[in-house]
Amino acid sequence: MKVLSHFKPNFQHFIQELPADKEQENKRRQVFEACFSFVQPKKTTSPSLISFMPQVASLLGISEEEMCSDSMRDILTGNMVLEQSQPYSMCYGGHQFGNWAGQLGDGRAINLFDLQHENKQWTLQLKGAGETPYSRGADGLAVLRSSIREYLCSEAMYHLGVPTTRALSLSLTGDQVIRDMLYDGNPALEKGAIVCRVAPSFLRFGNFEIFAARKDYVQLKKLLDYTIRHHFPTLEQAGLEGESLYLSFFKAVCQRTLDMIVHWQRVGFVHGVMNTDNMSILGLTIDYGPYGWLEDYNIDWTPNTTDAGNKRYRFGYQPSIALWNLVRLANAIYPLFNSADGLEVVLSTFQDQYKGRYYNMMFEKIGLIDTREDIDIIVKLEKYLMAHETDMTIFFRQLAQIKKNMKPQECFDIVRFAFYEASLLSEATKSAWLSWFEKYVSALAKESSSDTQRAKSMNRVNPKYVLRNYMNQLAIDKADQGDYSLIKAFEKMLQNPYEEQDEFQQWYAKRPDWARHKVGCSMLSCSS
Ligand code: AMP
Ligand code: MG
Repeated sequence: MKVLSHFKPNFQHFIQELPADKEQENKRRQVFEACFSFVQPKKTTSPSLISFMPQVASLLGISEEEMCSDSMRDILTGNMVLEQSQPYSMCYGGHQFGNWAGQLGDGRAINLFDLQHENKQWTLQLKGAGETPYSRGADGLAVLRSSIREYLCSEAMYHLGVPTTRALSLSLTGDQVIRDMLYDGNPALEKGAIVCRVAPSFLRFGNFEIFAARKDYVQLKKLLDYTIRHHFPTLEQAGLEGESLYLSFFKAVCQRTLDMIVHWQRVGFVHGVMNTDNMSILGLTIDYGPYGWLEDYNIDWTPNTTDAGNKRYRFGYQPSIALWNLVRLANAIYPLFNSADGLEVVLSTFQDQYKGRYYNMMFEKIGLIDTREDIDIIVKLEKYLMAHETDMTIFFRQLAQIKKNMKPQECFDIVRFAFYEASLLSEATKSAWLSWFEKYVSALAKESSSDTQRAKSMNRVNPKYVLRNYMNQLAIDKADQGDYSLIKAFEKMLQNPYEEQDEFQQWYAKRPDWARHKVGCSMLSCSS
């Protein structure tokens, strides 16, 4: 069987239209005047496919039979390079935790090739396939635990309706990788793994920042023109050019970023490392590292232990960080403008726009039409959810069962299941909830939609199943023993996060007590 018969080298516009690193040797270095370096993935000892996502395969026009072939296994682990394809790693910089970090780049990501299918173009990228010129002090590899986390979460996010890169496959390399998981002087050997991820483009804010930092405005312009031409074609088609074209591009990136963040806040996702090198220019959730899901609703929570001191990337701060990152992007492309005025205007509207979109979304979550009259209901809701440990996913999902004619106590009993240690709920918090439900039910009574209609639309924005932190860890622990059954089960469950699924009812549950302070559940590091 000829694998990937629809692969055509002439689709590779990133490497055809943008400047390549002139040096060919795969050694760590600063790469100038180039968007990427050609690099070969590392051969691995005994590669094996753990799992793949049939939906992503069909998006790419790859059949299940092809996916299960030995050749595909070798392609997806970097052991076979398609004839005429030219794998490469991208050069980018970034602001990490608020500081300019200089050149970063794809230290362990290698873009294999692009595929066109049904008029869409996709780049296939291996994460963990070996060293590149951008590997700096690290090994270019990825371990099984982090690869499972990326593989499951990117697809979970997609099915939740959150813009994201996709995951095609999860494989073992057959090699061991050494990691000091908590940076506490206890390195250990772990199984090496590779995820093949897929997106229309993996360009980040940092790809633009690196040229601006080096005052290389020639390449900056080339990259910006390329990005607009291929990824924002409607802007050019609208007849825009020059500075107004660039400004519309920036506006579009702001919109997409804002849209992504509103979704994160809706489902309770905390990215954990919102450095500018982890911000996709297409507004996709990218680079699943020490991310986490809010279990109890706590806007100050971050899963990332590396960020425990400042909690820069905590849940409630994600919108502000998105804006901070957009300011960095604006600074990066500013040299191509005569005046900063337009960029400043766009940035100045971000916060108000976000607030508008956020309240819209919150009203949808509680099933009320957003008239802003009832804004106090949202403000109090956020406050009471923080007053006692309350499971975010369960609370909002249960809320759909409330009916217009219910008494506050009945409503309370419906959401009671969302409270951790419900018996310890203080009298003050309980009575706050009762008065909240009284107001909520009277607001519901004013709506024209029926209880059933409302429940249906609420259940479309409030997922029943998310990839809880401890679920990930359970899947990882089993997979470490060679048992992939939980990975398969979660793959299936997370494809329909808004549906009732009897077979998965056990995962509609609060975090168990053992997971409260367990490494991998509530604490994660960047060491992956
Ligand atoms: P991250 O915080 O995972 O997005 O990574 C930040 C930077 O470190 C990026 O340039 C990555 O490519 C690089 N990096 C992370 N892990 C590794 C690794 N194991 N080997 C090489 N580079 C890495
Ligand atoms: Mg990254």
